[in-house]
Amino acid sequence: MTRLVLVGAGHAHLHLLAHAGRLREAGLEAVLVAPARFDYSGLATGVLSGAIGREAASLDIAALAKVAEVAHHATQVSAVDLAGGRLMLADGALLDFDLVSFNIGSVARDRQALSGQPGVWPVKPLANLFAFHSWLATEMARRARSPQVVIAGAGQTGFEVAAAVAGLAVRHGVTPRICVIGDAPGAWAPGRAGRHLRQALERRGVVFEMGEVVARTSSACQLGDGRSLPCDALVLATGLEAPPLIGALGLPVGADGRLRVSPQMRSVADPRVFAAGDCAVVDGAERPAAGVFGVRAAPVLLANLIAAATEKPLKVYRPQARWLSIMDLGDGTGLAMRGGLWSHGRAALWLKRRLDLGFVARAGRLRPGA
Ligand SMILES: Cc1cc2nc3c(=O)[nH]c(=O)nc-3n(C[C@H](O)[C@H](O)[C@H](O)COP(=O)(O)OP(=O)(O)OC[C@H]3O[C@@H](n4cnc5c(N)ncnc54)[C@H](O)[C@@H]3O)c2cc1C
Repeated sequence: MTRLVLVGAGHAHLHLLAHAGRLREAGLEAVLVAPARFDYSGLATGVLSGAIGREAASLDIAALAKVAEVAHHATQVSAVDLAGGRLMLADGALLDFDLVSFNIGSVARDRQALSGQPGVWPVKPLANLFAFHSWLATEMARRARSPQVVIAGAGQTGFEVAAAVAGLAVRHGVTPRICVIGDAPGAWAPGRAGRHLRQALERRGVVFEMGEVVARTSSACQLGDGRSLPCDALVLATGLEAPPLIGALGLPVGADGRLRVSPQMRSVADPRVFAAGDCAVVDGAERPAAGVFGVRAAPVLLANLIAAATEKPLKVYRPQARWLSIMDLGDGTGLAMRGGLWSHGRAALWLKRRLDLGFVARAGRLRPGA
């Protein structure tokens, strides 16, 4: 048997779990190394705003691996010895591989090394965001007042987190106290959608400031231009980059430290290494971090791992040039965007919930020995 180690249970590897029988038929012994639970990003801000419970946004990976009859180590890979074909796991175990596939997502960019300080909440891993929800909800209930929240980053995630925190404040009957810091807020959205969204958030009490957060004290954060802003909680929505494990492989990486893969989803430098989702970038087809790319890449990844083991020709994955992105605005509405088109309203959120809850339900429904 060829030993295939799947590192991370991201969107693409969930598909591999669902088709583990095909891997076995091709002579692949699949072993999964991933935390016992998978948190689904499409529903993350819904959890943050209090609209849905955390259970709805999470999958039991240990149970899924059992049903799929895939050996599972409920931990993380901490280091990789590529030359020796061996993975080091966070629990100290060693695991040999013939083929290895990475689908380990991304982490929040942290150029000022703010993570780990008290009251600093990076948006990834999503477990942080869920812990932030619990802390905020407790504080809002206890003090009958919202803590002052500063969000570093005025990208799509910064806007969505601001909207979710505003939604949570309304649920608790307190006035939102939220400040978003970043340059060109809303410039990432098509046409006039960015300005429309910014105005909608300002009406809900969100304040926007230009600048960059460079340091944090116990009750304030410092901006690069010397200003100091009151801050009980600092959220890092500063963009996503590949986890450090990818850089440590010593293989070629692209922007944001993502592993450079060929259109066949194979490292451009090591044919034993495959990758999909946020931690990878397809040569010549760079795309932003979004779950949809892991989902769309999954069938090609499955076919190519089988082809690599059986020495058959590999398929080509072409990430789509346009994709639907729907933001949950925490007030019962959503903002849907595709290419240059956008639409704001309840229908957009209805569609988002339908797609996201549908994904989680399908991924959680494996047939025994699939
Ligand atoms: C607040 C927020 C909201 C978002 N909303 C959306 C949205 O609505 N739609 C959308 O398309 N995108 C959204 N995104 C982007 C989205 O999170 C990512 O693009 C998507 O999750 C990437 O999917 P993936 O399959 O690459 O990895 P992930 O879904 O991140 O899964 C990777 C898995 O690998 C595991 N892992 C990590 N390191 C290791 C390791 N060393 N060893 C083993 N396992 C490991 C992790 O625990 C995780 O379970 C959002 C992001 C944020 C921060």
